[in-house]
Amino acid sequence: SERTLVLIKPDGVARGLTGEILRRIEAKGYVIAELKKTTATAEQLAAHYAEHEGKPFYQPLVDFMLSGPIVAAVAEGEGVIPGFRSLAGQTDPTTAAPGTIRGDLGRDWGEKVQKNLVHGSDSIESAEREIGIWFN
Ligand code: ATP
Repeated sequence: SERTLVLIKPDGVARGLTGEILRRIEAKGYVIAELKKTTATAEQLAAHYAEHEGKPFYQPLVDFMLSGPIVAAVAEGEGVIPGFRSLAGQTDPTTAAPGTIRGDLGRDWGEKVQKNLVHGSDSIESAEREIGIWFN
């Protein structure tokens, strides 16, 4: 069935929100098919964020993602790709709706990068590509 890559970013892990975020995914009815705590490498991040290379937030984003451990998961279920993005909420936690991970648990910390707790794949193609980067 459909699969998506979820990353709990360093802010989520450091703040002790791993359980809360995984709880929301499971409570929605998705299955956690793979799960690991890891530290990203520069190579993984270059591949994962290739589409953002050259943007002003690229280097702050990479530095942030290298700043501490992350949790990588594969979530599975019908419609999980848009479904997890809906659970996560809008990119900017300031405007993400209450009820979402970013809206309930995140805010603006006044930094160059949006510390927005999670990443979720945005299409079947990117999900398969991204799962290959973090799990093999
Ligand atoms: P969405 O696709 O819903 O915007 P996303 O997490 O996939 O969410 P991307 O646009 O792929 O977001 O950007 C990757 C990450 O880069 C974001 O999650 C955020 O941490 C950071 N980011 C994106 N846009 C900005 C920005 N304008 N300023 C600072 N950081 C940003």
